[in-house]
Amino acid sequence: MRLEKYLVNCGVGSRKDIKKIVEEGRVKINGLVTLNFGLWIEEDRDDITLDNRHLEFKTLRYYILYKTKGYITAVKDDRHPTIMELLPGWLETKDLFPVGRLDKDTEGLLLFTNDGDTNYKMTHPDKKISKKYYVELDKPISEGDIKDLEKGVDIGTHICLPAKVQYIEQNKIFLTIQEGKYHQVKKMVGSIKNKVSYLKRVKFGNLTLEDMKPGELREIFLKDIIL
Ligand code: URA
Repeated sequence: MRLEKYLVNCGVGSRKDIKKIVEEGRVKINGLVTLNFGLWIEEDRDDITLDNRHLEFKTLRYYILYKTKGYITAVKDDRHPTIMELLPGWLETKDLFPVGRLDKDTEGLLLFTNDGDTNYKMTHPDKKISKKYYVELDKPISEGDIKDLEKGVDIGTHICLPAKVQYIEQNKIFLTIQEGKYHQVKKMVGSIKNKVSYLKRVKFGNLTLEDMKPGELREIFLKDIIL
């Protein structure tokens, strides 16, 4: 495989980070510095080092968690329970991290991986990976509100891209967005003078919760993630 891919798979960083790291002369193949991140390497034969540290070619892992309320999306926190506490004891969590984030009171689909490349592709704004949320609202939503959300609302710091709204009943919608700004759904709903009373992510890219139960974990594979 190409050196760039190998380094991404080892969790060194995104493709952009890797280009810079290689060009800085920090990567060696069998003891020799290379400045060419496109070089072909044999992952089971060549010794690859970063800053003279040997890089182990690791197995990439992917899991979907049905997050429940009350947990913050962080690997470690001194004050609040984190999503890591929702993971079963048998799971090796050392190198796992969440892809994107859900608020403490938000439920639903959270992807975990140890794959830096997939993380980059699922979260980079240019990739426009869609996220679908089931949203319960404090007040009924009007046709005008739906039109506004579908046109793209102003949330103060940002004008949102057009969203997709599926009406369920007057206080319930599915909202699909292609961005992931901080508190985005809550701010979008705020911009139509309403408030989110319950939020659950039901889809992330092509990944869905299917028949998962709250708190459940499901292992998936890279082939399941269409990027
Ligand atoms: N938008 C929000 O406001 N909160 C979330 O947790 C996810 C999207």
